Amino acid sequence: MKNVVWFKDVNKDDVNLVGGKGANLGELYNLNVPIPNGFIVTSGVYFESLKASGALDRIKAALFGLPIDDPTILQSKALICQKEIKSIVIDKKIENRIYKFYKKLSGPNDAYVAVRSSATAEDLPEASFAGQQATFLNVRGKSELKEKILEAWASLFEARAIFYRAQKNFDHFKVGIAVPVQKMVQSEASGVMFTVDPVTNKNDKIVIEAIFGLGELIVGGQVTPDHYEVNKKDFQIADKIIVAQEKQLIRDKVGNKLVSISKPYRQTQKLEDQKIVELAKIGRSVEKHYFFPQDLEWAMAENSLFIVQTRPVTTYTKAQKSKTLQEERKYPSNEVLLQGSPASPIIGTGKVVIIKSPKELSKIQRGDVLVSEMTNPDYVPGMKKAVGIITDKGGRTSHAAIVSRELGIACVVGTGNATKKLHDGMVVTVDGTKGLVFKGQLVKNKKNLESGSETKTAKYTKTATKLYVNLAEPDLAASVASKNVDGVGLLRAEFMLAQIGIHPKLFIENNKEDKFVNKLTEKLMMFCKAFGKRPVIYRASDLKSNEYRNLKGGDKYEPKESNPMLGYRGAFRFVKDPDVFKLELAAIEKVRKKYKNLDLMIPFVRNVQELKSVRNIVRETGLFEDESFKFWMMVEIPANVILLDKFIEVGIDGISIGSNDLTMLMLATDRDNEEVASEFYELDDSVLWALERAIKGAIKAKISCSICGQAPSTYPQLTSKLISWGITSISVNPDVIDSTREIIRECESKLVS
Ligand code: PEP
Ligand code: MG
Repeated sequence: MKNVVWFKDVNKDDVNLVGGKGANLGELYNLNVPIPNGFIVTSGVYFESLKASGALDRIKAALFGLPIDDPTILQSKALICQKEIKSIVIDKKIENRIYKFYKKLSGPNDAYVAVRSSATAEDLPEASFAGQQATFLNVRGKSELKEKILEAWASLFEARAIFYRAQKNFDHFKVGIAVPVQKMVQSEASGVMFTVDPVTNKNDKIVIEAIFGLGELIVGGQVTPDHYEVNKKDFQIADKIIVAQEKQLIRDKVGNKLVSISKPYRQTQKLEDQKIVELAKIGRSVEKHYFFPQDLEWAMAENSLFIVQTRPVTTYTKAQKSKTLQEERKYPSNEVLLQGSPASPIIGTGKVVIIKSPKELSKIQRGDVLVSEMTNPDYVPGMKKAVGIITDKGGRTSHAAIVSRELGIACVVGTGNATKKLHDGMVVTVDGTKGLVFKGQLVKNKKNLESGSETKTAKYTKTATKLYVNLAEPDLAASVASKNVDGVGLLRAEFMLAQIGIHPKLFIENNKEDKFVNKLTEKLMMFCKAFGKRPVIYRASDLKSNEYRNLKGGDKYEPKESNPMLGYRGAFRFVKDPDVFKLELAAIEKVRKKYKNLDLMIPFVRNVQELKSVRNIVRETGLFEDESFKFWMMVEIPANVILLDKFIEVGIDGISIGSNDLTMLMLATDRDNEEVASEFYELDDSVLWALERAIKGAIKAKISCSICGQAPSTYPQLTSKLISWGITSISVNPDVIDSTREIIRECESKLVS
């Protein structure tokens, strides 16, 4: 097997040797597409080095019997594997050959290169999940080059990559990695090119966007680019919009730097006409080669054009379907509030919410219009809830524009002053086909906002941290079960009891216990059936006396309390008067004869003795005899956090943090009392302290740890903290399932990169 090859020596048939990315680079090079030249350290070098150094055996040993569902262990094993790989000593002969190629690529001085990773996966249909992310820019000199090659290899054993392979039953050791090393272009100008109009999907023009300096500013939306359109048929320039640019990103010795552009130069056209046409012709040839519209990144250095990346336009077929929207439009002459670049072929209407930073994303409700200076990946959870996006800055290929097209929502970018001109709560119509924002509601939203725009994107993502849902309503069981969740983290008994409508003690008084048990069993079965093998954690009844009193017969059995939140509720009830709790247990036993995925959680446990007594009652049923049965305790009271070890010693399989009660009790703020609602704040430092302590305590004791209060549903920014503390699952409301999964996924990938 060849160990190091030039781009010119490979093509699309060499995926096994150089991976998908490497093969594509070879293909483009041989097509005479001007790409920065380079070479590839082949997958053979990776395989041989892994074996010869002994790292292979040690990694195999480290991964043997790995419980992939345990993020803490997964993470620590991933680090062991990566460390093994990073300390491999590459065979001297091969190392020298790599340096020889580098020297030849560099010329007299060491060149800056990009070191990329290109996974190969023999016989495996899909390699894209593995180690594709690691790219190192501005690498210079032999030793740095060697270090980055090893790091690229090590990226194959990021926790996320291990997790995905294990989940899909792929052999870790059949996936290889090749490393393309490509000369960096010192861009004077750069940008993107679409071989179809990315907004209208019209196929007759090539659209180019250009800025001075490095291209990152376009995608980040910090700069509005020049916009050129070229006819495909005769390569005439059909449209040109030149936008002044004040700052550019340049590369210097220590990294990228934002510098000011001199005044006279700011107004100039970024690419001369002749270069625009030359670039369009290159785009056309790449499109012809791949038989599909392409989305390319380009750069210009010393007056030469280079293509640095090409991929198919992902939104092509999707957006084409909605192209008639533009024709459907008949507006009255309503006030145009703003004008910008049209960024998606959709029209949406909703209430404006101005977002100054991702911290404010919780302000966005499903169906709002998100208005911000610009967006970045941290905004995505909020963008997913929106029907439209309006930004001050950015062009048609900015982050906001790309993501809104993917999400299928309206978007107008580069309006200049949307965040100043619009204000929270005003209703606007966003016309992403024309780049206009109107006052008032002029259309009806086409999207089914109930189910949200989210389901399609996250459907197949799984994460190491489990994502559970909070449920209560039996009628929702089936539809929520069809979403991308790993189970029910909190099944509240309260709705089921309310549906039954009669106080359980009235059933008992009338010797109708069976009837109650059957009704509850039937409802529980609906959840267990819908969720199949996924766990359903039933939280035993935690109605407060004022709530129980609403049930038929309630008056007779419930005490009158001045503060029921601190009153006769939770575990204390089960101990003091176990009759009703025993009926709940009887229902669980019945359900478990048919569905083994039902577990039990105890709410509001004030002290260790209460937990012991409750556990004894459960033990009498025989439920513990089946190992698949899990017994959870909610952590809702500061005492639970302070004495967590003692509670765990009683014998529980997991804790789930009830942040609603925990916040109430940490801050002495009655959840039910409107007078003090302003003082109820789940992100208070004291609450965060308690969350961290509880999570770390559970992990140390090797039991599961979840959260099922409202906090992560209301404050998505909390999720990353929970993950960094080691939480094993997060349970949220059904409407934020996909956005939370996305946050978890992003956090996990950051944790391992
Ligand atoms: C909690 O306290 O956070 C919780 C989930 O339980 P509930 O809101 O039902 O009290
Ligand atoms: Mg609670």
